[in-house]
Amino acid sequence: MSMIAISRADADAVIAHARQGAPDEVCGLVGVRDGRICRLTPARNASPTPRNRFEIDSRDLVQVIRDERDGLDVGFYHSHPASRAYPSATDIQFAALWPGALQLMVSLRNDRAGKGGPELHVYRINGDRVEELRLIVE
Ligand SMILES: [Zn+2]
Repeated sequence: MSMIAISRADADAVIAHARQGAPDEVCGLVGVRDGRICRLTPARNASPTPRNRFEIDSRDLVQVIRDERDGLDVGFYHSHPASRAYPSATDIQFAALWPGALQLMVSLRNDRAGKGGPELHVYRINGDRVEELRLIVE
């Protein structure tokens, strides 16, 4: 399984964003270089039904241009407040617009005292093929 690294600080920032936005889904962009998530850009969720959908606000998509200009591969993150961190059918449709882009996901379904805490997983999606990568938090 290929590996993707993320700093503890960036992982914590994604989790904090997800908690702050719950029970709605939150979303954002990630910039990737050499197998490492090295930039996070929170975005507004423009979906009319944010409880179980996300849609990166078009005003925030300009970050794609900045990331690419800086030589980073463009990826995305979003949260599932109540379900597992695995791409839904809607997520796979979204990913079709960005073939092979990294999709970082955080689930808060077990994020309560005495439970397992937030879950972070990362995927690459090509068509309807979902590949999980090993996420190293360091
Ligand atoms: Zn989703």
